Amino acid sequence: MIHVGIGYDVHQLVEGRKLILGGVEIPHTKGLDGHSDADALMHAICDAVLGALGCGDIGQFFPNTDPWWKGAPSKIFLEEAARQAQRQGARIVNIDATLIAQAPKVMLHAAAMKANIAAALGLDVKKVGIKATTNELMGFIGRGEGIAAMAVAGVDRPD
Ligand code: MG
Repeated sequence: MIHVGIGYDVHQLVEGRKLILGGVEIPHTKGLDGHSDADALMHAICDAVLGALGCGDIGQFFPNTDPWWKGAPSKIFLEEAARQAQRQGARIVNIDATLIAQAPKVMLHAAAMKANIAAALGLDVKKVGIKATTNELMGFIGRGEGIAAMAVAGVDRPD
């Protein structure tokens, strides 16, 4: 039985931080702020997988009040989501995600991001979709104050 999960995340763009999306460090004047490496794309995907598994969300596994996860690379969150799937005897079928960023041009890095996400989830890279859009200069994303990501995951579960 295929179960579908949805994930959404957003982080603020600030000076003095690296911009990391899909595990790729992307050259930019600002980076995403957060407790971990603030990889909004991986966080949204993690929530999509956990959602399909009925496992709650990323904050339940990795509270942002826990100093252990400070500066953590977000691939460990995806690795945990994959472990949860394995524990249920479930198989992640596919991931599809959209990045919403006014700048920089993130699609130049799509292949590298897909490879990192696929590796962290133990998936074939062809099962990972990444798309990007600007916010047409509107709102906080349009003003370059933050970057958001949305994701869905298809998971084949025995129940
Ligand atoms: Mg986040």
